[in-house]
Amino acid sequence: MTYDYDLFVIGAGSGGLAASKRAASYGAKVAIAEADLVGGTCVIRGCVPKKLMVYASKFSHLYQDAVGYGWSQVESSFDWQHLVTVVDKEVRRLSQLHISFLEKAGVELISGKASLLDPHTIQVGERKITADKILIAVGGEAVKPNLPGMEFAITSREMFLLEEQPKRLAVLGAGYIAVEFAGIMRGLGSQVTQLIRGDMFLKGFDEDIRSGVSEGMKQHGIEVIANVIGQKIEKVPEGLQLTFSEKGKDVDSTITVDAVLVAIGRAPNLGGLGLDKAGVKVVNCEDEDLPRLHGYSVSCAIAVDEYSRTSQANIFAVGDCTNRINLTPVAIGEGRAFADTEFGNNPRIFSHETVPSAVFSQPEAATVGLSETEAKAKLGDDAVQIYRARFRPMFHSLTGAEEKTMVKLVIDKQSDRVLGAHMTGEYAAEIIQGMAIAVKMGATKKDFDATVGIHPSTAEEFVTLR
Ligand code: NDP
Repeated sequence: MTYDYDLFVIGAGSGGLAASKRAASYGAKVAIAEADLVGGTCVIRGCVPKKLMVYASKFSHLYQDAVGYGWSQVESSFDWQHLVTVVDKEVRRLSQLHISFLEKAGVELISGKASLLDPHTIQVGERKITADKILIAVGGEAVKPNLPGMEFAITSREMFLLEEQPKRLAVLGAGYIAVEFAGIMRGLGSQVTQLIRGDMFLKGFDEDIRSGVSEGMKQHGIEVIANVIGQKIEKVPEGLQLTFSEKGKDVDSTITVDAVLVAIGRAPNLGGLGLDKAGVKVVNCEDEDLPRLHGYSVSCAIAVDEYSRTSQANIFAVGDCTNRINLTPVAIGEGRAFADTEFGNNPRIFSHETVPSAVFSQPEAATVGLSETEAKAKLGDDAVQIYRARFRPMFHSLTGAEEKTMVKLVIDKQSDRVLGAHMTGEYAAEIIQGMAIAVKMGATKKDFDATVGIHPSTAEEFVTLR
């Protein structure tokens, strides 16, 4: 049987782009379908525009900090439309760049939404295309809670394109996206109220990261209301009124804002994909209480094995739609491992162990390896040694700001191995990236101690912990 393509990739995001180019480099005939701008969530409405907005938001803090160093007070104003326009322009430039990379790699780009008709046939618009192997890399999309008035709320997708800066913003959620946008919008001058259903941000992260981020955000003027359940949103003459119930309070409370951002998780983008027609199974979709997008909840995922193979032998899936670790570098790694295995005669599994990540909150947080709680649950309380320092970074010794940096190592007492490295504070992502190499290589605390620090720096704290 001959097919139109050796590989057809659905979704030109991080995972799909990486896999398609790698497969083409081995001589495979590859096509990739994309219904939106090429680049996917990270480039178009995630990591890239988010980080640019984080940069934009930090100037207000810098202007204040500069006064402590002898600069006169800066009277500056901020132009939201300018930022949104230049960020959008940069995103479109990168999207074009990705298209040129595909051309260079010999991958054919097909515009339109693809759906599966059977295990080897894909429909895009009027076109029916056949392929030997298919890779699903459709990513995810933000969900909203099932509450009255949620049509008035926005998700991170719309945040990048708002015509006006909301002067008063309510943020629902306590994960990556919620804390990052709370920091961005506060830095840009909005009044931000963050409503979280538990009592702390960033569930799953080391407790010292959670408390460090929480404290820092409050210091930056973000109002946090904990143990809250959102009830409804209504349009009122003054803006949007968000009603919520607070644990321990008999009556509901309200706040009136210009925009409500919901960031309560993302569901795989599987609507209309025709998975059932191709015999591709999904898992973890049973919980009826979870918010859904086109029928799929935040816990749903395409079921895959360690080689990213679905229940259909010739169909594979990588990235957020498999809900393993939903990070761009992971999707890229999974995509390349798939291409090496299937087209490069180099069978290999992408390791999901010791994956570092950062939250671009303010203060920034970054982490690799086990948290203290995870390490103690795995090895027992007495088998784990914790080294931690919390201090005012040198930069703030003259600014007067009460900013704190936290660095922490989680050590296996018996082997002396570093099981986890965690940090909150300026450049946490940059610093933990280096630590991640050491942790991945199995470095011990003695190795860290034997490393000479770079002085004066924050990173040196990791090699001087006592
Ligand atoms: P997350 O999965 O990080 O967090 C979801 C948050 O929503 C949790 O705090 C959860 O609260 C809360 N929540 C869930 N349901 C409700 C509800 N019904 N009402 C109120 N709160 C609720 O989701 P995000 O949307 O922030 O991010 C999605 C994914 O995107 C992340 O998992 C991450 O992998 C990726 N991402 C990574 C970034 C990075 O690497 N810097 C940046 C942005 C996104 P609770 O804690 O109580 O469970």
